[in-house]
Amino acid sequence: MTDPNACTVDITAPDISPYRKGNTGIEYATTIDSGKSGPHVMITALVHGNEICGAIVLDELFRAGIRPLHGQLTLAFCNIAAFERFDAAQPETSRWVEEDFNRLWTAEVLDGPRDSADLRRARALRPLVDRADLLLDIHSMQHPSEPLLLAGPLAKGRRFAAGIGFPALAVCDHGHAAGRRMRDYGGFGDAASPKNAMLVECGQHWAPRTVAVARETTLRFLAHCGVIDPAQGPLRFAETPLAQQTVEVTHPVTITAEAFRFARVFAGLEVIEQAGTLIGWDGEREVRTPYDGCVLVMPSKRLYRGQTAVRMGRFVSAH
Ligand SMILES: [Zn+2]
Repeated sequence: MTDPNACTVDITAPDISPYRKGNTGIEYATTIDSGKSGPHVMITALVHGNEICGAIVLDELFRAGIRPLHGQLTLAFCNIAAFERFDAAQPETSRWVEEDFNRLWTAEVLDGPRDSADLRRARALRPLVDRADLLLDIHSMQHPSEPLLLAGPLAKGRRFAAGIGFPALAVCDHGHAAGRRMRDYGGFGDAASPKNAMLVECGQHWAPRTVAVARETTLRFLAHCGVIDPAQGPLRFAETPLAQQTVEVTHPVTITAEAFRFARVFAGLEVIEQAGTLIGWDGEREVRTPYDGCVLVMPSKRLYRGQTAVRMGRFVSAH
């Protein structure tokens, strides 16, 4: 059976073996120190092992010899064990090894008794994430869809998205019932902390455009954080950003039944005009849109109990 959503792999995973040793005592994590005071800025790729656009961009930053103007810059490739399983012939299967690296980020889980390859890697990277003041976590999507910033639930995340200014859509959401994301961990998820984090979903996992979005977002994040000056040096912006729009997720759809199916194929960011429109079934239970003009964010192909099937939200005015 052919999957109408099947996507070919049109980008090439980089050789990241030169970055294995790093300089932090943690494999595949490198901190570059400006020697001047300033924030500790961190960029993470491969939190999901088959989302390779971020690894391409980190490889480019290393090759460009990036040096922060102020503070420290840490570049980290995260779920290496999953990435090492990446196979362009079966690219869907290397998102994680045993569990989702991006659902582990509470002290309760990180300090708890559970064990998995993914959790061991999260524990290894945790001291660096603890030290980061500002984080960009680079991801990509299952479906061909417009890129978006996942700004989290707090006002400071929304402001951070506006400051980065690219891509043109920011989504404010609380994450997943299945576990906390790295972007919501510790001070990032605390309204009283000056720390801030952004997750970018750059487009379909293996499309060339996705790499361009990852690159542009990364440069704009670095410039916003004062790490680079795009007017000088080789790292220049390539795109003219559009005015940013914001979607607030109001109704994440967490699967409670054994199986979930959508009423039709959704790629994401469809605006469903009529309240009460059927979008799928959680087991026997109908899932309908709660209001007019409902936006569907990132419908998933991983339709298992406890997972997020889709997020429902609405456009809100910027402020
Ligand atoms: Zn991801």
